[in-house]
Amino acid sequence: MSGVFGVYSPTRSNLASEVYYGIYALQHRGQESCGIAVNDGGVISSHKDVGLVDAVFDREVLARLGDGEIAIGHCHYSKRVTATRANAQPMTVNHIKGQMALAMNGALINAPRLRHELELLGSIFHSLSDSELIATTIVHERLRNPSIEAAVSAAMYRLEGAYSLVLMSPRKLIGVRDPLGFRPLVLGERDGVHVLASESCALDAVGAAFVRDIEPGEIVVIDPGGLRSLREHVTGGRHALCAFEYIYFARPDSVVEGTQVHEARKRLGAALARSHPVDADVVLGVPDSGIDAALGYAETSGIPYGLGFIKNKYIGRTFIRNDQREREDRVRIKLNVIESQVRGRRVIMVDDSIVRGTTVARIVRLLRLAGAREIHVLSSAPPFLNPCYFGTDIDSREDLISVRLEPDEIARRIGADSVGFLRHEDVNEMVAGCPLDLCKGCFSGCYPLAIPPNLDALRIRDERRFGARLSQAN
Ligand code: 5GP
Ligand code: MG
Repeated sequence: MSGVFGVYSPTRSNLASEVYYGIYALQHRGQESCGIAVNDGGVISSHKDVGLVDAVFDREVLARLGDGEIAIGHCHYSKRVTATRANAQPMTVNHIKGQMALAMNGALINAPRLRHELELLGSIFHSLSDSELIATTIVHERLRNPSIEAAVSAAMYRLEGAYSLVLMSPRKLIGVRDPLGFRPLVLGERDGVHVLASESCALDAVGAAFVRDIEPGEIVVIDPGGLRSLREHVTGGRHALCAFEYIYFARPDSVVEGTQVHEARKRLGAALARSHPVDADVVLGVPDSGIDAALGYAETSGIPYGLGFIKNKYIGRTFIRNDQREREDRVRIKLNVIESQVRGRRVIMVDDSIVRGTTVARIVRLLRLAGAREIHVLSSAPPFLNPCYFGTDIDSREDLISVRLEPDEIARRIGADSVGFLRHEDVNEMVAGCPLDLCKGCFSGCYPLAIPPNLDALRIRDERRFGARLSQAN
């Protein structure tokens, strides 16, 4: 998962700090690596590294990146692609027509095949990142197309999967959303400055007004002539906006395709209250992403909402740690229970999702230690039964607890009195009025694009190949 951000200013100004605040507001979308690239008169300077935005950038680095007319930024999380500086984005490439930098949110399902095709033509890759692959594809297309935007449009015929892109050439900022619209991308404006961002909360952070969502398949080009929209890939067909964007990824203060994320989550909680009524004394939301749905549950059920947990604000996500042991140890540092809220009471605990079941087991234990009499766990997402190939690092099937256990078995395993999940048919309730269809592949196993049958094996092969190359290079 990633956050992308781009800005075009008609006059040269301090864009590095503008992008800094933009990706800072998108930090929830990726905490492993980040980067900023600034274009000053066709010369691109960039800085990227492993770490959180405020660790990678300081005043000096931002000053060194300096002023420009166009700039883009990125923050990234991936379980699959190891966080290294080589894999970090934006990807800057030099080609015969100048420099280009690109940042992406999503995942290609034809990456191994595309990489192989390009390698047969002599391309050399430095990373496993899909963004380098897309940049290379665009560069190849640029050789037979009259403009960068024509090259982008031609490249899109060769890309399969989820991609929201921001990229810049010497004179243009370009935003792209894949034809199915898996990942969000929005446009904002402030005094003639155009801004592209994964979420509207990043527009707020830089004082830009929300203009609109970029449409699935749309290419927007911003240059000295203003903003143009290219619609060759915009179709009237089905879309596939990731349902998990509303359930978990996006920030509640963002508006995605006309729906405030906070309201979407509250509606999930309300649906849970109708499908899973429980006799209890208090409803608790697991910070951060369980809180909104818990409020919706409380409102609909009439059971009071209680502040049950305090989360340490100064710690990164425990999920950042890929190592299971380390992750378990850190839950307690991160989250504590307000004992007076739970002692002797029947508690409903709402979280956004149960994936491996590790987090929920830990929190149930904390509630027991604090004296909860009954603990009923509800997930505002349906059971995760399938991997995601479109940018959400949902584990391989063996790690998904719902693949192995029924809800009552999960309850026994984690020490809860009951466990319930949102019903599959209630997912759409969260986005009443959303103009796009949702991708619910992780729940249903029905994917909006045909997954190449050998994709997992090909990905592993490439991971080995590049893992080896990286350690040789280091
Ligand atoms: P698990 O059941 O795997 O132990 O953890 C589920 C918890 O992880 C939920 O509280 C949910 O908020 C969080 N979670 C689910 N998916 C992701 C993800 O892709 N990235 C991160 N950082 N957290 C996730
Ligand atoms: Mg959580």
